[in-house]
Amino acid sequence: MHNISVIGAGTMGNGIAHVFAMTGYPVALIDIAQDALDRGLATIAKNLDRMVAKGTIGEADKAATLARISLHTDLASGVSQADLVVEAATENMALKLDIFSRMDAEAPAHAILASNTSSISITKIAAATKRPSQVIGMHFMNPVPVMKLVEVIRGYATSNETCSAIMELSGKLGKTPVEVNDYPGFVANRILMPMINEAIYALFEGVAGVEEIDTVMKLGMAHPMGPLQLADFIGLDVCLAILKVLHEGFGNPKYAPCPLLVNMVTAGRLGAKSGEGFYVYTPGSKELVISGSFRK
Ligand code: NAD
Repeated sequence: MHNISVIGAGTMGNGIAHVFAMTGYPVALIDIAQDALDRGLATIAKNLDRMVAKGTIGEADKAATLARISLHTDLASGVSQADLVVEAATENMALKLDIFSRMDAEAPAHAILASNTSSISITKIAAATKRPSQVIGMHFMNPVPVMKLVEVIRGYATSNETCSAIMELSGKLGKTPVEVNDYPGFVANRILMPMINEAIYALFEGVAGVEEIDTVMKLGMAHPMGPLQLADFIGLDVCLAILKVLHEGFGNPKYAPCPLLVNMVTAGRLGAKSGEGFYVYTPGSKELVISGSFRK
């Protein structure tokens, strides 16, 4: 496997391009607009600068990494040489089905098509292509250059060869791949989201306040961050969308999103990205300002 294409230059896509390019792979980074590509590349450069400052890599490594990345607004030309495409476009089912059917038509026949989706069925995405045995989930964690886990998701039709190739490649990137089957939420979000939902229920029912709940989980369970602050960082809209996938996918009321979460999303309180969720943030950053403004 040599040529990598990454679709989407946002939060995850630029991180994925960063780790592949730093490992030595030529990367074609694809997005719909040139300014999204420029922003993605600027983020990669900034993150590489941080690594240079820490002494993890040298200036020459930074330059070589950036030189391996080419930018494309045209999907067909971006995937035409790919041995592997990793799709990290916006989390939207119709959009992903369209991207997969287009890249199936444009990428070489031997290419593996992977998705970084957090919650959409890999089996469903694979069914939009004529090569379902070569479609797989490659679920990186945010921030990609830092987090070690890759959840490798086998769709119903994913072949052993495809799975082995992606497990091996993830290891080459310095990541630890874990193979899981394609069921709603896979493993990471199936366990994380009910925990976050339960923390929101505890708040909703008045069991304890925001900081009390987060402190119990941080100090009691050695979590680096409490579940309510983590929900703010992930985005409350994203948490709600994933809980709906679990609820609908399993048809089990235990996954029903807490009404407080639904209300907060409806009111536009989406967490750090909107400046306010369970905590209040400095605009445009994840820096915590105050935590006292929460209202049920
Ligand atoms: P994002 O909004 O930061 O970036 C998405 C990018 O996709 C944007 O730059 C957008 O312009 C681009 N895009 C949209 N339509 C496109 C198209 N047709 N062709 C090419 N590019 C297109 O989103 P993100 O947070 O990077 O999420 C991307 C994927 O990664 C989603 O599937 C999400 O579920 C998954 N994911 C996100 C996280 C996270 O913490 N953000 C973690 C794991 C997985």
